[in-house]
Amino acid sequence: MASTEQPAKQKVAFLGLGIMGAPMAANLARGGIEVVAWNRTAAKAEQLAAEHDNVTVAGSPAEAAAAAGAAISMVPDAPEVEEVLLGQDGAAGGLGEGGLAIDMSTISPTASRAIGQRLGQRGIAFLDAPVTGSRPKAEDGTLTIMAGGAEEAFDRARPLFEAMGQLVLHMGPQGHGSMVKLINNTLAAVNAAALAEGISVARLAGLDLDKAMQVVASGSGNSAMRELKSGPMIEGDYDPLFKLEHMLKDVRYFLAESREMGVQTGVSQTASNVYEQADAEGYGQSDFAAVIEAIATQSRLK
Ligand code: NAP
Repeated sequence: MASTEQPAKQKVAFLGLGIMGAPMAANLARGGIEVVAWNRTAAKAEQLAAEHDNVTVAGSPAEAAAAAGAAISMVPDAPEVEEVLLGQDGAAGGLGEGGLAIDMSTISPTASRAIGQRLGQRGIAFLDAPVTGSRPKAEDGTLTIMAGGAEEAFDRARPLFEAMGQLVLHMGPQGHGSMVKLINNTLAAVNAAALAEGISVARLAGLDLDKAMQVVASGSGNSAMRELKSGPMIEGDYDPLFKLEHMLKDVRYFLAESREMGVQTGVSQTASNVYEQADAEGYGQSDFAAVIEAIATQSRLK
């Protein structure tokens, strides 16, 4: 007789419902996955639960993880990842042996490997699986997801990734997801800083900025950053899709990793200095399009 038993629904704890985490968790829920949500500011988890039948709220990362058996973290940086996974009331306590932790924040490969090692000592599998694509791609489920870690862990996480992303890649061992993410973001940061310089020069030269950007768009100077950030830079619209302080974090990590390897990264260092300046001016919580403000300051235009 054929079994009438339905396969158990996949369940995951989601820890960190910020710009990216909230829409990612919503897509898991839309994909039929049961989500146990936890956020430092509880109201965001409660809001998500109010919007989706298959989202419940937990009082701590440990409680969320215990209810689910697998946990995703999406928080700013390595100290926060450590806190939500390994701290007091962290997810590791709830997962226990055989559990799976997936960090989708952008942190350094060195930090990812260290966290993976500590989780491994407790019998918990770990993937560093950062994403590219800002809030719009998080919302429509078309993120690129790049994972580092064991093949079996990746296979287990694949249905979760597919609910949130379009291009999903297993990059290789622990840390390889984080490494490629830092490379990508540093390329974007360098390009956005150069774009900010180009727009600043065009503005001062009295060019028609709209026509100037049309020329760039159809020329060899075009780029994803021109497409996404020329408008906000020209209009001074810094409503955060990706916070400048997070971009700066990523470039700093890239520089630290490249230094360790002995690779000369002078171009990236120069771009980093511009983001440092913008951050010092108070634009850390703004979108990284605000890097153009640092060009104006350095040029004594304001
Ligand atoms: P965000 O909007 O600043 O959200 C951060 C989240 O982390 C919030 O849920 C926040 O909780 C939580 N959090 C902060 N400090 C915490 C702590 N000490 N303990 C526990 N939770 C804490 O950031 P985001 O843009 O979603 O980015 C999250 C990660 O994804 C970062 O590593 C970023 O670099 C990366 N990323 C971002 C983008 C993007 O375009 N935005 C794209 C790719 C990757 P509260 O609600 O309580 O503040």
